[in-house]
Amino acid sequence: DAKKPVFAFRETPRQMPARIPLELRQSGDWNELYGRFGEAEAKHQASRCLDCGNPYCAWKCPLHNYIPNWLELAREGRIHEAAALAHETNPLPEVCGRVCPQDRLCEGSCTLNDGFGAVTIGAVEKYIADRALADGWRPDLSRVVATGKRVAVIGAGPAGLSCADRLARAGIEATVFDRYEQIGGLLHFGIPSFKLDKSVMATRRDVLEGMGVKFRLGVEIGRDIGLDTLLAEFDAVFLGLGSYRYTDGGLPGQDLRNVLPALPFLVQNGRLVHGEDEVDGKPIAGWEDHVALPDLRGKRVVVLGGGDTGMDCVRSAVRLGASRVTCAYRRDEANMPGSAREVANAREEGVQFLFNRAPLALLGEDGDVTGVRVAETQLGAPDAQGRRNAEIVAGSESVLAADVVIIAFGFQPDPPEWLSAHGIELEGNGRIRVQPAASGCGSRKKVAADARLPFQTANAKVFAGGDSVRGADLVVTAAYEGREAAAGIVKLLLG
Ligand code: FAD
Ligand code: SF4
Repeated sequence: DAKKPVFAFRETPRQMPARIPLELRQSGDWNELYGRFGEAEAKHQASRCLDCGNPYCAWKCPLHNYIPNWLELAREGRIHEAAALAHETNPLPEVCGRVCPQDRLCEGSCTLNDGFGAVTIGAVEKYIADRALADGWRPDLSRVVATGKRVAVIGAGPAGLSCADRLARAGIEATVFDRYEQIGGLLHFGIPSFKLDKSVMATRRDVLEGMGVKFRLGVEIGRDIGLDTLLAEFDAVFLGLGSYRYTDGGLPGQDLRNVLPALPFLVQNGRLVHGEDEVDGKPIAGWEDHVALPDLRGKRVVVLGGGDTGMDCVRSAVRLGASRVTCAYRRDEANMPGSAREVANAREEGVQFLFNRAPLALLGEDGDVTGVRVAETQLGAPDAQGRRNAEIVAGSESVLAADVVIIAFGFQPDPPEWLSAHGIELEGNGRIRVQPAASGCGSRKKVAADARLPFQTANAKVFAGGDSVRGADLVVTAAYEGREAAAGIVKLLLG
Protein backbone atom coordinates (compact mmCIF):
# COMPACT_ATOMS: atom_id res chain seq x y z
CA ASP A 1 0.00 0.00 0.00
CA ALA A 2 0.99 3.66 -0.26
CA LYS A 3 3.92 4.57 2.00
CA LYS A 4 2.89 5.74 5.43
CA PRO A 5 2.94 9.54 5.73
CA VAL A 6 5.25 10.33 8.66
CA PHE A 7 3.46 13.47 9.83
CA ALA A 8 -0.13 12.25 9.37
CA PHE A 9 -0.75 12.99 13.05
CA ARG A 10 -0.30 16.70 12.33
CA GLU A 11 -2.54 16.83 9.26
CA THR A 12 -5.23 14.48 10.58
CA PRO A 13 -6.67 15.39 13.98
CA ARG A 14 -7.70 12.72 16.47
CA GLN A 15 -11.33 11.88 15.72
CA MET A 16 -13.63 9.43 17.51
CA PRO A 17 -16.55 7.86 15.59
CA ALA A 18 -19.71 9.99 15.51
CA ARG A 19 -21.92 9.82 18.60
CA ILE A 20 -25.71 9.54 18.94
CA PRO A 21 -27.09 13.13 19.12
CA LEU A 22 -27.55 14.41 22.66
CA GLU A 23 -31.30 15.00 22.37
CA LEU A 24 -31.85 11.35 21.39
CA ARG A 25 -29.77 10.12 24.35
CA GLN A 26 -31.75 12.34 26.68
CA SER A 27 -35.04 11.02 25.32
CA GLY A 28 -34.27 7.34 25.83
CA ASP A 29 -32.06 6.09 22.98
CA TRP A 30 -30.22 2.94 24.19
CA ASN A 31 -28.12 2.40 21.06
CA GLU A 32 -24.33 2.37 21.35
CA LEU A 33 -23.20 5.94 21.89
CA TYR A 34 -20.25 5.71 19.51
CA GLY A 35 -20.87 4.69 15.91
CA ARG A 36 -18.37 2.80 13.75
CA PHE A 37 -15.58 4.16 11.59
CA GLY A 38 -15.98 3.75 7.86
CA GLU A 39 -12.98 2.36 5.95
CA ALA A 40 -11.55 5.79 5.08
CA GLU A 41 -11.88 7.11 8.64
CA ALA A 42 -10.26 3.99 10.09
CA LYS A 43 -7.34 4.28 7.66
CA HIS A 44 -6.89 7.97 8.45
CA GLN A 45 -6.95 7.46 12.20
CA ALA A 46 -4.65 4.41 12.01
CA SER A 47 -2.18 6.39 9.88
CA ARG A 48 -1.64 8.79 12.80
CA CYS A 49 0.41 6.16 14.66
CA LEU A 50 4.08 7.15 14.84
CA ASP A 51 5.22 3.52 15.19
CA CYS A 52 7.56 4.75 17.90
CA GLY A 53 10.03 1.83 18.28
CA ASN A 54 9.13 1.27 21.96
CA PRO A 55 5.31 1.29 21.94
CA TYR A 56 4.19 2.47 25.37
CA CYS A 57 0.57 1.78 24.32
CA ALA A 58 1.30 -1.95 23.98
CA TRP A 59 3.09 -2.05 27.34
CA LYS A 60 0.23 -0.32 29.09
CA CYS A 61 -2.41 -2.58 27.50
CA PRO A 62 -2.84 -5.42 30.02
CA LEU A 63 -2.95 -7.88 27.10
CA HIS A 64 0.16 -6.35 25.49
CA ASN A 65 -1.65 -6.15 22.17
CA TYR A 66 0.47 -5.63 19.01
CA ILE A 67 -1.10 -2.22 18.59
CA PRO A 68 1.23 -0.43 16.12
CA ASN A 69 1.31 -3.58 13.94
CA TRP A 70 -2.46 -3.93 13.57
CA LEU A 71 -2.85 -0.18 13.17
CA GLU A 72 -0.49 -0.41 10.18
CA LEU A 73 -2.43 -3.35 8.69
CA ALA A 74 -5.64 -1.34 9.11
CA ARG A 75 -4.03 1.63 7.39
CA GLU A 76 -3.14 -0.64 4.48
CA GLY A 77 -6.71 -2.01 4.38
CA ARG A 78 -5.54 -5.57 5.28
CA ILE A 79 -8.39 -6.02 7.74
CA HIS A 80 -8.49 -9.81 7.96
CA GLU A 81 -4.77 -9.94 8.73
CA ALA A 82 -5.26 -7.15 11.27
CA ALA A 83 -8.09 -9.17 12.88
CA ALA A 84 -5.95 -12.31 13.01
CA LEU A 85 -3.12 -10.37 14.67
CA ALA A 86 -5.49 -8.65 17.12
CA HIS A 87 -6.84 -12.06 18.14
CA GLU A 88 -3.31 -13.36 18.75
CA THR A 89 -3.31 -11.53 22.08
CA ASN A 90 -6.93 -10.54 22.66
CA PRO A 91 -9.75 -13.10 22.55
CA LEU A 92 -12.34 -10.26 22.69
CA PRO A 93 -11.02 -7.30 20.64
CA GLU A 94 -14.47 -6.00 19.64
CA VAL A 95 -15.45 -5.86 23.33
CA CYS A 96 -12.23 -4.24 24.62
CA GLY A 97 -12.31 -1.71 21.78
CA ARG A 98 -15.70 -0.61 23.13
CA VAL A 99 -15.40 -0.74 26.92
CA CYS A 100 -11.74 -0.46 27.95
CA PRO A 101 -10.95 2.80 29.76
CA GLN A 102 -8.46 3.62 27.00
CA ASP A 103 -7.73 7.03 28.52
CA ARG A 104 -6.09 5.19 31.44
CA LEU A 105 -4.54 2.38 29.37
CA CYS A 106 -3.27 2.28 25.78
CA GLU A 107 -4.36 5.75 24.65
CA GLY A 108 -3.24 7.33 27.92
CA SER A 109 0.29 6.10 27.14
CA CYS A 110 0.32 6.99 23.43
CA THR A 111 3.22 9.33 22.61
CA LEU A 112 0.75 11.64 20.88
CA ASN A 113 -1.32 12.01 24.08
CA ASP A 114 0.63 15.18 24.61
CA GLY A 115 -1.16 17.98 22.84
CA PHE A 116 -1.68 16.23 19.48
CA GLY A 117 -4.31 13.76 20.70
CA ALA A 118 -3.70 10.02 21.20
CA VAL A 119 -4.36 7.62 18.34
CA THR A 120 -7.95 6.33 18.63
CA ILE A 121 -6.69 2.82 19.40
CA GLY A 122 -9.92 1.45 20.90
CA ALA A 123 -12.11 2.66 18.03
CA VAL A 124 -9.75 1.16 15.42
CA GLU A 125 -9.61 -2.13 17.36
CA LYS A 126 -13.43 -2.21 17.31
CA TYR A 127 -13.47 -1.40 13.59
CA ILE A 128 -10.99 -4.16 12.71
CA ALA A 129 -12.85 -6.85 14.67
CA ASP A 130 -16.37 -5.75 13.65
CA ARG A 131 -15.47 -5.46 9.97
CA ALA A 132 -13.66 -8.79 9.80
CA LEU A 133 -16.37 -10.68 11.68
CA ALA A 134 -19.10 -9.10 9.53
CA ASP A 135 -17.16 -10.23 6.42
CA GLY A 136 -17.29 -13.78 7.79
CA TRP A 137 -13.63 -13.88 8.85
CA ARG A 138 -13.11 -16.42 11.64
CA PRO A 139 -9.99 -17.54 13.58
CA ASP A 140 -8.15 -20.13 11.48
CA LEU A 141 -7.98 -23.38 13.45
CA SER A 142 -7.32 -25.57 10.42
CA ARG A 143 -3.90 -26.62 11.74
CA VAL A 144 -5.09 -27.33 15.27
CA VAL A 145 -4.92 -31.02 16.19
CA ALA A 146 -7.56 -32.31 18.61
CA THR A 147 -5.87 -33.61 21.77
CA GLY A 148 -8.86 -35.44 23.25
CA LYS A 149 -8.53 -33.37 26.43
CA ARG A 150 -11.63 -31.69 27.89
CA VAL A 151 -11.87 -28.72 30.25
CA ALA A 152 -14.90 -27.34 32.12
CA VAL A 153 -15.04 -23.53 32.28
CA ILE A 154 -17.37 -22.14 34.97
CA GLY A 155 -18.54 -18.64 34.06
CA ALA A 156 -19.17 -17.20 30.60
CA GLY A 157 -17.80 -13.74 31.45
CA PRO A 158 -14.71 -12.33 29.73
CA ALA A 159 -12.37 -14.47 31.87
CA GLY A 160 -14.16 -17.74 31.01
CA LEU A 161 -14.63 -16.86 27.33
CA SER A 162 -10.96 -15.93 26.93
CA CYS A 163 -9.88 -19.15 28.59
CA ALA A 164 -12.19 -21.19 26.31
CA ASP A 165 -10.84 -19.42 23.20
CA ARG A 166 -7.22 -20.25 24.07
CA LEU A 167 -8.04 -23.85 24.95
CA ALA A 168 -9.79 -24.33 21.59
CA ARG A 169 -6.68 -22.99 19.83
CA ALA A 170 -4.64 -25.67 21.62
CA GLY A 171 -6.96 -28.50 20.55
CA ILE A 172 -8.59 -28.82 23.97
CA GLU A 173 -12.38 -29.04 24.06
CA ALA A 174 -13.85 -26.39 26.38
CA THR A 175 -17.36 -26.62 27.80
CA VAL A 176 -18.52 -23.33 29.33
CA PHE A 177 -21.15 -23.45 32.09
CA ASP A 178 -23.08 -20.37 33.23
CA ARG A 179 -26.09 -19.90 35.46
CA TYR A 180 -27.43 -17.24 33.10
CA GLU A 181 -29.13 -17.98 29.80
CA GLN A 182 -26.78 -15.75 27.76
CA ILE A 183 -22.99 -15.62 27.53
CA GLY A 184 -20.98 -12.54 28.56
CA GLY A 185 -21.35 -12.32 32.36
CA LEU A 186 -21.34 -8.59 33.16
CA LEU A 187 -20.91 -7.85 29.45
CA HIS A 188 -24.51 -8.97 29.00
CA PHE A 189 -25.99 -8.62 32.50
CA GLY A 190 -24.49 -5.36 33.74
CA ILE A 191 -22.87 -3.10 31.16
CA PRO A 192 -25.66 -1.15 29.42
CA SER A 193 -26.23 -1.36 25.67
CA PHE A 194 -25.22 2.27 25.10
CA LYS A 195 -21.67 1.09 25.87
CA LEU A 196 -21.88 -2.45 24.43
CA ASP A 197 -24.64 -3.59 22.11
CA LYS A 198 -25.83 -7.09 23.01
CA SER A 199 -25.53 -8.30 19.40
CA VAL A 200 -21.74 -8.12 19.94
CA MET A 201 -21.94 -11.04 22.37
CA ALA A 202 -24.22 -13.01 20.05
CA THR A 203 -21.59 -12.72 17.30
CA ARG A 204 -18.83 -13.77 19.72
CA ARG A 205 -20.86 -16.81 20.72
CA ASP A 206 -21.12 -17.76 17.06
CA VAL A 207 -17.33 -17.36 16.69
CA LEU A 208 -16.57 -19.49 19.75
CA GLU A 209 -19.05 -22.20 18.77
CA GLY A 210 -17.41 -22.26 15.34
CA MET A 211 -14.11 -22.92 17.14
CA GLY A 212 -15.66 -25.92 18.89
CA VAL A 213 -16.44 -24.33 22.25
CA LYS A 214 -19.59 -25.78 23.85
CA PHE A 215 -21.98 -23.80 26.05
CA ARG A 216 -24.21 -25.17 28.78
CA LEU A 217 -26.21 -22.13 29.87
CA GLY A 218 -28.79 -21.84 32.63
CA VAL A 219 -26.72 -24.31 34.69
CA GLU A 220 -25.46 -23.25 38.11
CA ILE A 221 -22.48 -25.20 39.41
CA GLY A 222 -23.00 -26.07 43.06
CA ARG A 223 -26.77 -26.24 42.58
CA ASP A 224 -27.48 -28.12 39.32
CA ILE A 225 -24.11 -29.89 38.98
CA GLY A 226 -21.43 -30.34 41.64
CA LEU A 227 -17.77 -29.46 41.16
CA ASP A 228 -16.98 -33.08 42.04
CA THR A 229 -18.87 -34.20 38.91
CA LEU A 230 -16.92 -31.76 36.74
CA LEU A 231 -13.62 -32.87 38.28
CA ALA A 232 -14.51 -36.47 37.52
CA GLU A 233 -15.67 -35.83 33.95
CA PHE A 234 -13.13 -33.24 32.77
CA ASP A 235 -9.33 -33.10 32.71
CA ALA A 236 -9.24 -29.66 34.37
CA VAL A 237 -11.60 -26.87 35.51
CA PHE A 238 -11.35 -23.07 35.14
CA LEU A 239 -13.23 -20.80 37.57
CA GLY A 240 -14.28 -17.39 36.17
CA LEU A 241 -17.00 -16.72 38.72
CA GLY A 242 -16.92 -12.92 38.87
CA SER A 243 -17.36 -10.74 41.96
CA TYR A 244 -20.96 -10.09 42.95
CA ARG A 245 -21.31 -9.29 46.67
CA TYR A 246 -22.37 -5.70 46.61
CA THR A 247 -20.95 -3.17 49.07
CA ASP A 248 -23.96 -1.46 50.64
CA GLY A 249 -22.08 1.01 52.83
CA GLY A 250 -24.26 0.16 55.86
CA LEU A 251 -26.09 3.50 55.67
CA PRO A 252 -29.09 4.08 57.96
CA GLY A 253 -32.30 4.08 55.88
CA GLN A 254 -31.14 1.63 53.19
CA ASP A 255 -34.35 -0.37 53.45
CA LEU A 256 -36.54 2.60 52.45
CA ARG A 257 -38.58 2.19 49.27
CA ASN A 258 -36.79 3.30 46.07
CA VAL A 259 -33.30 2.75 47.44
CA LEU A 260 -31.78 0.43 44.84
CA PRO A 261 -28.50 -1.48 44.60
CA ALA A 262 -26.81 -0.65 41.29
CA LEU A 263 -26.42 -4.03 39.62
CA PRO A 264 -30.03 -5.27 39.97
CA PHE A 265 -31.13 -1.87 38.67
CA LEU A 266 -28.88 -2.19 35.60
CA VAL A 267 -29.67 -5.87 35.00
CA GLN A 268 -33.42 -5.43 35.25
CA ASN A 269 -33.34 -2.36 33.09
CA GLY A 270 -31.16 -4.14 30.51
CA ARG A 271 -33.67 -6.96 30.37
CA LEU A 272 -36.49 -4.50 29.73
CA VAL A 273 -34.52 -2.63 27.06
CA HIS A 274 -33.87 -5.90 25.25
CA GLY A 275 -37.38 -7.24 25.65
CA GLU A 276 -36.12 -10.12 27.81
CA ASP A 277 -38.64 -9.53 30.62
CA GLU A 278 -41.92 -7.81 31.50
CA VAL A 279 -42.08 -4.47 33.33
CA ASP A 280 -44.96 -5.13 35.73
CA GLY A 281 -42.95 -4.42 38.91
CA LYS A 282 -41.72 -8.01 39.30
CA PRO A 283 -38.71 -8.44 41.56
CA ILE A 284 -35.48 -9.36 39.85
CA ALA A 285 -34.64 -13.05 39.73
CA GLY A 286 -32.05 -13.75 42.41
CA TRP A 287 -32.54 -10.35 44.05
CA GLU A 288 -36.10 -10.81 45.34
CA ASP A 289 -35.27 -9.20 48.69
CA HIS A 290 -34.11 -6.02 47.07
CA VAL A 291 -36.18 -4.18 44.49
CA ALA A 292 -38.66 -3.92 41.74
CA LEU A 293 -37.64 -1.35 39.14
CA PRO A 294 -39.43 1.99 39.78
CA ASP A 295 -40.54 4.31 37.00
CA LEU A 296 -37.87 7.05 36.92
CA ARG A 297 -39.77 9.45 34.68
CA GLY A 298 -39.81 12.93 36.26
CA LYS A 299 -37.95 11.67 39.36
CA ARG A 300 -34.92 13.15 41.13
CA VAL A 301 -32.31 10.40 41.15
CA VAL A 302 -29.18 10.44 43.31
CA VAL A 303 -26.43 7.91 42.57
CA LEU A 304 -23.87 7.27 45.30
CA GLY A 305 -20.45 6.20 43.96
CA GLY A 306 -18.08 7.31 41.21
CA GLY A 307 -16.92 4.11 39.45
CA ASP A 308 -17.92 2.60 36.10
CA THR A 309 -21.05 1.16 37.68
CA GLY A 310 -22.07 4.57 39.02
CA MET A 311 -21.55 6.13 35.58
CA ASP A 312 -23.71 3.44 33.97
CA CYS A 313 -26.44 4.14 36.56
CA VAL A 314 -26.50 7.92 36.07
CA ARG A 315 -26.55 7.60 32.29
CA SER A 316 -29.29 4.94 32.43
CA ALA A 317 -31.35 7.23 34.70
CA VAL A 318 -31.03 10.03 32.10
CA ARG A 319 -32.34 7.67 29.39
CA LEU A 320 -35.18 6.56 31.67
CA GLY A 321 -36.49 10.14 31.86
CA ALA A 322 -35.37 11.27 35.34
CA SER A 323 -35.89 14.99 35.80
CA ARG A 324 -32.61 15.45 37.67
CA VAL A 325 -29.69 13.06 38.04
CA THR A 326 -26.95 13.73 40.59
CA CYS A 327 -23.81 11.71 41.28
CA ALA A 328 -22.36 12.19 44.78
CA TYR A 329 -18.78 11.02 45.20
CA ARG A 330 -16.67 11.23 48.34
CA ARG A 331 -13.37 12.13 46.69
CA ASP A 332 -12.54 14.75 44.03
CA GLU A 333 -12.82 14.35 40.26
CA ALA A 334 -9.12 13.53 39.83
CA ASN A 335 -9.54 10.55 42.17
CA MET A 336 -12.66 9.10 40.54
CA PRO A 337 -12.17 5.43 39.66
CA GLY A 338 -14.42 5.58 36.56
CA SER A 339 -13.17 6.33 33.03
CA ALA A 340 -12.74 10.08 32.37
CA ARG A 341 -14.44 9.60 28.98
CA GLU A 342 -17.54 8.15 30.64
CA VAL A 343 -17.62 11.01 33.17
CA ALA A 344 -17.44 13.52 30.30
CA ASN A 345 -20.29 11.74 28.47
CA ALA A 346 -22.41 11.70 31.64
CA ARG A 347 -21.81 15.38 32.23
CA GLU A 348 -22.77 16.20 28.66
CA GLU A 349 -25.97 14.20 29.10
CA GLY A 350 -26.92 16.50 31.97
CA VAL A 351 -25.70 14.62 35.06
CA GLN A 352 -24.67 16.87 37.95
CA PHE A 353 -21.57 15.84 39.87
CA LEU A 354 -21.11 16.64 43.53
CA PHE A 355 -17.53 15.85 44.45
CA ASN A 356 -16.16 15.58 48.00
CA ARG A 357 -19.57 14.55 49.39
CA ALA A 358 -19.87 11.51 51.66
CA PRO A 359 -23.33 10.05 52.34
CA LEU A 360 -24.23 9.73 56.03
CA ALA A 361 -27.85 8.49 55.96
CA LEU A 362 -30.86 8.02 53.72
CA LEU A 363 -33.89 10.01 54.85
CA GLY A 364 -37.51 9.02 54.33
CA GLU A 365 -41.18 9.67 54.92
CA ASP A 366 -43.89 6.98 55.13
CA GLY A 367 -41.34 4.37 54.05
CA ASP A 368 -40.28 6.20 50.86
CA VAL A 369 -36.83 7.69 50.45
CA THR A 370 -36.87 11.50 50.29
CA GLY A 371 -33.21 12.44 50.40
CA VAL A 372 -29.61 11.74 51.34
CA ARG A 373 -27.84 13.46 54.21
CA VAL A 374 -24.31 14.19 53.02
CA ALA A 375 -21.23 15.86 54.48
CA GLU A 376 -18.40 17.59 52.69
CA THR A 377 -15.03 15.85 52.69
CA GLN A 378 -11.39 16.76 52.31
CA LEU A 379 -8.67 14.37 51.17
CA GLY A 380 -6.35 13.15 53.91
CA ALA A 381 -3.47 10.67 54.11
CA PRO A 382 -3.20 7.89 51.49
CA ASP A 383 -4.57 4.43 52.39
CA ALA A 384 -2.82 1.06 51.84
CA GLN A 385 -3.53 1.26 48.06
CA GLY A 386 -2.14 4.80 47.88
CA ARG A 387 -5.58 6.41 47.54
CA ARG A 388 -6.16 9.41 49.77
CA ASN A 389 -8.85 8.92 52.39
CA ALA A 390 -11.93 11.15 52.30
CA GLU A 391 -12.26 12.83 55.71
CA ILE A 392 -15.53 14.43 56.83
CA VAL A 393 -15.44 18.21 57.35
CA ALA A 394 -17.14 18.99 60.68
CA GLY A 395 -20.35 21.05 60.46
CA SER A 396 -20.69 20.66 56.65
CA GLU A 397 -23.83 18.50 56.52
CA SER A 398 -26.62 19.15 54.01
CA VAL A 399 -29.50 17.18 52.44
CA LEU A 400 -29.86 16.20 48.77
CA ALA A 401 -33.54 15.78 47.88
CA ALA A 402 -34.18 12.46 46.11
CA ASP A 403 -37.09 10.30 44.93
CA VAL A 404 -34.79 7.40 44.03
CA VAL A 405 -31.31 6.60 45.39
CA ILE A 406 -29.02 4.11 43.66
CA ILE A 407 -26.09 2.71 45.64
CA ALA A 408 -23.03 1.98 43.48
CA PHE A 409 -20.21 1.44 45.97
CA GLY A 410 -18.67 -1.53 44.17
CA PHE A 411 -18.47 -5.29 44.57
CA GLN A 412 -16.56 -7.85 46.59
CA PRO A 413 -15.91 -11.50 45.71
CA ASP A 414 -18.53 -13.90 47.08
CA PRO A 415 -16.80 -17.27 46.88
CA PRO A 416 -19.21 -20.24 46.99
CA GLU A 417 -18.87 -22.61 49.93
CA TRP A 418 -18.15 -25.63 47.74
CA LEU A 419 -14.68 -24.31 46.82
CA SER A 420 -13.13 -25.21 50.18
CA ALA A 421 -14.51 -28.77 50.00
CA HIS A 422 -12.20 -29.28 47.01
CA GLY A 423 -9.09 -27.80 48.58
CA ILE A 424 -9.37 -24.43 46.79
CA GLU A 425 -7.96 -21.74 49.10
CA LEU A 426 -9.08 -18.14 49.48
CA GLU A 427 -7.37 -14.88 50.39
CA GLY A 428 -8.68 -13.10 53.49
CA ASN A 429 -10.94 -10.87 51.39
CA GLY A 430 -12.65 -13.78 49.63
CA ARG A 431 -10.58 -13.72 46.44
CA ILE A 432 -9.59 -17.14 45.11
CA ARG A 433 -5.89 -17.75 45.81
CA VAL A 434 -3.90 -18.63 42.68
CA GLN A 435 -0.28 -18.87 41.69
CA PRO A 436 0.54 -15.40 40.29
CA ALA A 437 1.57 -14.90 36.67
CA ALA A 438 5.34 -15.02 36.10
CA SER A 439 5.06 -11.40 35.03
CA GLY A 440 2.03 -9.71 36.57
CA CYS A 441 -0.65 -8.12 34.42
CA GLY A 442 1.02 -5.04 32.99
CA SER A 443 4.07 -5.38 35.23
CA ARG A 444 7.36 -7.25 34.95
CA LYS A 445 7.37 -8.51 38.52
CA LYS A 446 9.23 -11.80 38.85
CA VAL A 447 7.92 -14.40 41.28
CA ALA A 448 9.78 -17.26 42.88
CA ALA A 449 9.60 -20.37 40.75
CA ASP A 450 7.70 -23.24 42.34
CA ALA A 451 5.93 -26.31 41.06
CA ARG A 452 2.61 -24.56 40.48
CA LEU A 453 1.50 -23.02 37.20
CA PRO A 454 0.21 -19.46 36.73
CA PHE A 455 -3.44 -19.09 37.85
CA GLN A 456 -3.47 -22.61 39.31
CA THR A 457 -5.35 -22.85 42.63
CA ALA A 458 -4.35 -24.99 45.61
CA ASN A 459 -6.19 -27.83 43.81
CA ALA A 460 -3.82 -28.70 40.96
CA LYS A 461 -6.67 -29.54 38.58
CA VAL A 462 -8.42 -26.18 39.09
CA PHE A 463 -7.39 -22.79 37.69
CA ALA A 464 -9.09 -19.41 38.24
CA GLY A 465 -9.01 -15.85 36.92
CA GLY A 466 -10.88 -12.58 36.47
CA ASP A 467 -12.84 -10.70 39.12
CA SER A 468 -13.12 -13.76 41.42
CA VAL A 469 -9.30 -13.66 41.69
CA ARG A 470 -8.53 -9.92 41.34
CA GLY A 471 -11.67 -8.47 42.94
CA ALA A 472 -13.92 -6.25 40.79
CA ASP A 473 -11.73 -4.83 38.02
CA LEU A 474 -11.85 -4.59 34.22
CA VAL A 475 -12.86 -6.62 31.18
CA VAL A 476 -9.35 -6.47 29.76
CA THR A 477 -7.70 -7.79 32.95
CA ALA A 478 -10.27 -10.61 33.13
CA ALA A 479 -9.46 -11.46 29.50
CA TYR A 480 -5.75 -11.44 30.33
CA GLU A 481 -6.17 -13.80 33.27
CA GLY A 482 -8.43 -16.17 31.30
CA ARG A 483 -5.82 -16.24 28.53
CA GLU A 484 -2.91 -16.88 30.88
CA ALA A 485 -4.80 -19.49 32.91
CA ALA A 486 -5.48 -21.36 29.66
CA ALA A 487 -1.74 -21.35 28.97
CA GLY A 488 -1.24 -22.94 32.40
CA ILE A 489 -3.92 -25.57 31.70
CA VAL A 490 -2.31 -26.38 28.34
CA LYS A 491 1.00 -26.87 30.12
CA LEU A 492 -0.62 -29.09 32.76
CA LEU A 493 -2.43 -31.29 30.24
CA LEU A 494 -0.04 -31.33 27.31
CA GLY A 495 3.33 -30.57 28.89
P1 FAD B 1 -18.16 -11.79 35.13
O1 FAD B 1 -18.23 -10.93 33.92
O2 FAD B 1 -18.86 -11.32 36.34
O3 FAD B 1 -18.69 -13.23 34.73
C1 FAD B 1 -18.81 -14.25 35.70
C2 FAD B 1 -19.81 -15.26 35.20
O4 FAD B 1 -19.77 -16.41 36.05
C3 FAD B 1 -21.26 -14.76 35.26
O5 FAD B 1 -21.87 -14.89 34.00
C4 FAD B 1 -21.91 -15.66 36.31
O6 FAD B 1 -23.27 -15.94 36.01
C5 FAD B 1 -21.07 -16.90 36.20
N1 FAD B 1 -21.11 -17.74 37.42
C6 FAD B 1 -20.71 -17.40 38.67
N2 FAD B 1 -20.89 -18.43 39.52
C7 FAD B 1 -21.40 -19.45 38.78
C8 FAD B 1 -21.82 -20.78 39.10
N3 FAD B 1 -21.72 -21.27 40.33
N4 FAD B 1 -22.32 -21.55 38.11
C9 FAD B 1 -22.43 -21.07 36.84
N5 FAD B 1 -22.06 -19.81 36.49
C10 FAD B 1 -21.56 -19.02 37.45
N6 FAD B 1 -15.02 -3.07 32.90
C11 FAD B 1 -14.46 -2.42 31.86
O7 FAD B 1 -13.36 -2.77 31.44
N7 FAD B 1 -15.11 -1.37 31.25
C12 FAD B 1 -16.34 -0.97 31.62
O8 FAD B 1 -16.90 -0.03 31.05
C13 FAD B 1 -16.97 -1.65 32.70
N8 FAD B 1 -18.22 -1.32 33.10
C14 FAD B 1 -18.81 -2.02 34.10
C15 FAD B 1 -20.10 -1.70 34.45
C16 FAD B 1 -20.75 -2.41 35.45
C17 FAD B 1 -22.16 -2.05 35.80
C18 FAD B 1 -20.06 -3.43 36.16
C19 FAD B 1 -20.74 -4.16 37.27
C20 FAD B 1 -18.76 -3.76 35.80
C21 FAD B 1 -18.13 -3.07 34.77
N9 FAD B 1 -16.84 -3.39 34.37
C22 FAD B 1 -16.26 -2.72 33.33
C23 FAD B 1 -16.09 -4.50 35.01
C24 FAD B 1 -16.15 -5.78 34.17
O9 FAD B 1 -17.45 -5.99 33.69
C25 FAD B 1 -15.68 -6.97 34.98
O10 FAD B 1 -14.39 -6.69 35.51
C26 FAD B 1 -15.58 -8.24 34.12
O11 FAD B 1 -16.83 -8.56 33.54
C27 FAD B 1 -15.10 -9.44 34.97
O12 FAD B 1 -15.11 -10.60 34.18
P2 FAD B 1 -15.26 -12.06 34.83
O13 FAD B 1 -15.29 -12.99 33.68
O14 FAD B 1 -14.23 -12.22 35.88
O15 FAD B 1 -16.66 -12.04 35.60
FE1 SF4 C 1 -6.37 -0.54 24.50
FE2 SF4 C 1 -8.01 -2.22 25.80
FE3 SF4 C 1 -7.45 -2.65 23.21
FE4 SF4 C 1 -5.55 -3.04 25.11
S1 SF4 C 1 -7.46 -4.20 24.85
S2 SF4 C 1 -5.31 -1.97 23.08
S3 SF4 C 1 -6.08 -1.40 26.59
S4 SF4 C 1 -8.53 -0.87 24.04
